[in-house]
Amino acid sequence: MIFSQIPQAPADPILGLTDAFKKDPRADKVNLGVGIYKDEAGQTPVLKTVKKAEAILLDAEKTKNYLGIEGVELYNTAVQTLLFGAKNDIINAKRAYTAQAPGGTGSLRVAAEFLVRNTDSKTLWVSNPTWANHQNIFQTAGLTIKEYGYYKAETHDMDFDAMITDLQAAQPGDLILLHGCCHNPTGIDLSSSQWETVGQLCVDKELVPLFDFAYQGFGAGIEEDAQGLRIVAAKVPELLVANSFSKNFGLYNERIGAITVVAANEETAQKSFSQIKKTIRATYSNPPAHGGLIVSTILSDETLRQEWEVELAEMRQRIAEMRVLFVETLKSEGVKQDFSFISRQNGMFSFSGLSKEQVNRLKDEFGVYIVGSGRISVAGMTKQNIPVICKAIAQV
Ligand code: PLP
Repeated sequence: MIFSQIPQAPADPILGLTDAFKKDPRADKVNLGVGIYKDEAGQTPVLKTVKKAEAILLDAEKTKNYLGIEGVELYNTAVQTLLFGAKNDIINAKRAYTAQAPGGTGSLRVAAEFLVRNTDSKTLWVSNPTWANHQNIFQTAGLTIKEYGYYKAETHDMDFDAMITDLQAAQPGDLILLHGCCHNPTGIDLSSSQWETVGQLCVDKELVPLFDFAYQGFGAGIEEDAQGLRIVAAKVPELLVANSFSKNFGLYNERIGAITVVAANEETAQKSFSQIKKTIRATYSNPPAHGGLIVSTILSDETLRQEWEVELAEMRQRIAEMRVLFVETLKSEGVKQDFSFISRQNGMFSFSGLSKEQVNRLKDEFGVYIVGSGRISVAGMTKQNIPVICKAIAQV
């Protein structure tokens, strides 16, 4: 017998919360834990453009044959254009190679495995705080995690000085994880000039950026949200990008993302990519087709692409409206504390500043579920549930 001594693994801090939420019998319970977009009716519908693309694919499909290790070719080209912009020097010089991968998580894990097996870089710097799964993914792959400051709790704002000071201790060849936009969990992003500084720091200290880009289009817009990546990419010789379409195409369960490697020249990029393909072959062999085909169908059709951009803008604008309404409703419920910083943050999440004890009381006494760190998924708020949430917050 080899299994009997295996201990129970702890529940995932975010997905475990969803399990607890499902078991809660209260009718007015609200889940603001997991980062899933909800519309005004509290639903997570399939985008209209996705339905249209699926109809086209169902009609045209002739085979279920394997894809190549790197996935759908048209998809990978479309990903590069979204990341770097059309006619970018990096693309023109063939310094970037992209493989379709299972979601942002799968892409990050492929990146980590590739780095551990093929480079001497074993230390990854992540922001404090960061998405809870980052440590899990990278430590499991064998990287050592170090943290750089990012957030100042007193001002609910960026602590850029701490970030730069902490990164002074990084060694040449160290990896630095950067959230492309809509930083999870704080909702606070770098300004263009701060991106310039970070890009230059990477050059000066020979750090290699790994971008986690899971929310393109949820901040200010598709092109705007890529500015940080593009500023850094224009400076550094090498970087990796793990991007995801779970959120901006609403394709959560299709597991669709991509890993992109950029190297100093075409030959190095091609060799690095051959090792990424080797990692993929040893992990899941080749990606599932459906998500990649949906995204490439939409992005390569001018009409569908425009319609998708409208749908994405609707999601972005609804979240921005909820931020404003949330702050106003808290005020009208008599909450004295200033929560106006929430309307200045980007993307699905806000770091509320609520304590662990307040988070527990919200769950136990009011059926309002948020992550222990105080991170709130604003994308789960609606005009209907905001009064419930704000009344509960006023009580705690
Ligand atoms: N990276 C960040 C910062 C995220 O917030 C998420 C999802 O919540 C992911 C990556 C993973 O995305 P996916 O569901 O595509 O694996």
